[in-house]
Amino acid sequence: DRTIRQIAAGEVVERPASAVKELVENSLDADADRISVAVDAGGTQGIRVRDDGVGMDRESAERAIEEHTTSKIDGIDDLEAGVGTLGFRGEALHTIGAVSRLTIRTKPRARSAGDSGENRETRGGASGTEIRVEGGDVTAVGAAGCPEGTVVEVEDLFFNTPARKKFLKTTATEFDHVNTVVTHYALANPDVAISLEHDGREVFATEGRGSLQSAVLSVYGREVAESMIEVEYDPADEADPPTETGSAVGAESDSTDGTGTVEGVRGLVSHPETTRSTREYLSTFVNGRYVTDGVLREAVLDAYGGQLAGDRYPFAVLFVDVPADTVDVNAHPRKMEIRYDNESGVRAAVTDAVRTALLDEGL
Ligand code: ADP
Ligand code: MG
Repeated sequence: DRTIRQIAAGEVVERPASAVKELVENSLDADADRISVAVDAGGTQGIRVRDDGVGMDRESAERAIEEHTTSKIDGIDDLEAGVGTLGFRGEALHTIGAVSRLTIRTKPRARSAGDSGENRETRGGASGTEIRVEGGDVTAVGAAGCPEGTVVEVEDLFFNTPARKKFLKTTATEFDHVNTVVTHYALANPDVAISLEHDGREVFATEGRGSLQSAVLSVYGREVAESMIEVEYDPADEADPPTETGSAVGAESDSTDGTGTVEGVRGLVSHPETTRSTREYLSTFVNGRYVTDGVLREAVLDAYGGQLAGDRYPFAVLFVDVPADTVDVNAHPRKMEIRYDNESGVRAAVTDAVRTALLDEGL
């Protein structure tokens, strides 16, 4: 029981960044407009995710950590097989609580259309709820004064699982992973104001105004933002598939039977002179979800032809939409990999979309 619980938690919460990912997803699921993430020592000492989302009443908050406790932890195989595209399937808070000191402070949101704010306090309940969990044991549940929304604090991750703790890398490496995760959510959700703080220092903060351009500016800075070129391919706007660039790969997609058709490609890619020596700034999202996908990466790189200096990668924030039933996102959840029914069709469409955008700029 306790041991299995800890092992299982270790399998799914690999490092601070995995906890951050789950907590940010929860905040997004809770319809938050603002999410602030603060970590200490790369997240190894502390993680705090605060949102202004729907919040929880006391009963829901207690259920959030207690529920699913037994049913999914028959074994690690079960857990691995059970995880779907949304992560832990009701296990995130529970599993994080099993391997840390977890505090949740939450209060239901009372927002409604035309709400003047006057009656918010009473309708939201005068106070919120605070729950503390230590190594899987609920140590306190009580009323707490807090704003609407939810704050989850994770301290001393893996304090009770020394073997797992030993796998943690340096503060800098763990923070890199956290930064990567939060960056991807910030880019994928430009309508949400998302900020990241490390050891009390702000790393970035997006404004949540809805424009991808402004999110890129906040995350990557002015030089990169100003070099970005807009990619926009909507098959509905095109009489013919996007083969006017004469790409042989594009022509190939015509010969498929239509499965795996791309519904849209949009986003931003950098001028071929604005590059980095690592591929981590080439971000691709399929149906709104971040994926590390060699197919899409190659598709983007192909579009640049010989214009990139050797071993250099462009910045890209590219959203590819495909019919849900033509992709398999049930690859290992931590690796965020994906398989397509029509890989060459997807690849061709992405290359064409990016190529067209570059050509429009005279590149
Ligand atoms: P899952 O997200 O798969 O349902 P979690 O363990 O991550 O499982 O969360 C359990 C439940 O707790 C969620 O289903 C949700 O009802 C609630 N919850 C978690 N985080 C938040 C949050 N930030 N705001 C509102 N509700 C939350
Ligand atoms: Mg969750």
